[in-house]
Amino acid sequence: MNPTSRRIFVVALALIAVCLASAARAQGNPPANAGATLFQNVRIFDGKAALLSAPSNVLIRGNIIERISTAPIAAEPGVTVIAGNGRTLMPGLIDAHWHAMLIRPNPAQAISGDVGYNNIAAGVEATDTLMRGFTTVRDVGGPVFGVKAAIDAGLIAGPRIYPSGAVITVTSGHGDFRQLSELPRTIGGMLSRMEQIGASMIADSPDEVRVRVREQLMQGASQIKLTAGGGVSSPFSPTDVSTFTEAELRAAVEAAENWGTYVTVHAFTPAAIQRSIAAGVKCIEHGFLMDEATARLIADSGVWLSTQPLPEALRQGFPPGSVQRAKADEVWPGIARTYELARRYKLKTAWGTDVLFSQVLAQQQGAILASLVRWYSPAEALAMATETNAELLALSGKRNPYPGKLGVVEQGALADLLLVDGNPLENIDLIADPAKNFKIIMKDGRVYKNAL
Ligand SMILES: [Zn+2]
Repeated sequence: MNPTSRRIFVVALALIAVCLASAARAQGNPPANAGATLFQNVRIFDGKAALLSAPSNVLIRGNIIERISTAPIAAEPGVTVIAGNGRTLMPGLIDAHWHAMLIRPNPAQAISGDVGYNNIAAGVEATDTLMRGFTTVRDVGGPVFGVKAAIDAGLIAGPRIYPSGAVITVTSGHGDFRQLSELPRTIGGMLSRMEQIGASMIADSPDEVRVRVREQLMQGASQIKLTAGGGVSSPFSPTDVSTFTEAELRAAVEAAENWGTYVTVHAFTPAAIQRSIAAGVKCIEHGFLMDEATARLIADSGVWLSTQPLPEALRQGFPPGSVQRAKADEVWPGIARTYELARRYKLKTAWGTDVLFSQVLAQQQGAILASLVRWYSPAEALAMATETNAELLALSGKRNPYPGKLGVVEQGALADLLLVDGNPLENIDLIADPAKNFKIIMKDGRVYKNAL
């Protein structure tokens, strides 16, 4: 090589090195200790038991909990050792009813605002969500595929997301946020703005339902969400109405099951719940206006109830005198009744928050979980937000974006872990203040927070 070509060669190498380095930066900064981690002297809440374990040691290798032992585990060279000092190690929390795209913006912004801005806002909120100890969310409506992909690629920190994609609704149903001036719709005509951005899709026949369901599956939906009855926040859906026909619901169930996954529905009333179950729906969201007979049907059919202890502040957030406030006033007393029925009939009950359009309320995510102690022991509430919610996530079958065991601390499970300063089984309010009490937050074997 002559001196000139050697110089060109060296410059070329340097350029390649710079490109590689910036490519690595573009992937986000992986925490240094992404290899193996050893938690020493921790007491474990495993996601199921009502008591903490004896003092134990837990070895994480890669993204898997490799070994749990009350006997010492030797720290090999290169293993990051964390002295637990008797603190509690528990599974990362799971919120089974979340809308990552609909927390920071207000409704008008969510639909009409700039899509790039909304995605960045959702990404920032996703990082906050992880920093509250929520390592997984089941997203039941919203154009979240981009944010999920950015998190999974390591561009930003955030929870695992089980996306539904667009909520599928009927004309006037819960999730139809169009103005009256946008009527009538021509089938096959131009899509409304909320449909263009993938927030919700309108389908008024089994054929239309099939198209919309398959479009969500094509984008990577892990489950499908339909609204089977009226809701509080949408302007033209009274709470008493049933929306989709049984044939339409069945079309969604068929399309989802052909892809190995399931349909969950927003439903309050006995009629909407019963019709959904008849059509093969596997999970009911909310259920706030159900009666005894419907609770029995849910129990007998083995269907999930995914419900939420909605905070009073959310009801009061609807302006007095508004249609939404009147609907909220009707629905709210049903929350306590629903939890009592869920207990009495031993329903498979998942927990979620359904926070919408409020960053302030999102900060209460852990407090909303802690509020379950109105009906459950702290251990039962925490088990619901870990092992039980993970069981619901597993219903996604082959469409599960994160195969592996979540929601438990056991050998072979995915390493989503929280190190808590104190015992949340004795004082569940610890989870309401994650900034103070969660000393370590680990997702997929990586430490995202270390405040020790
Ligand atoms: Zn919701």
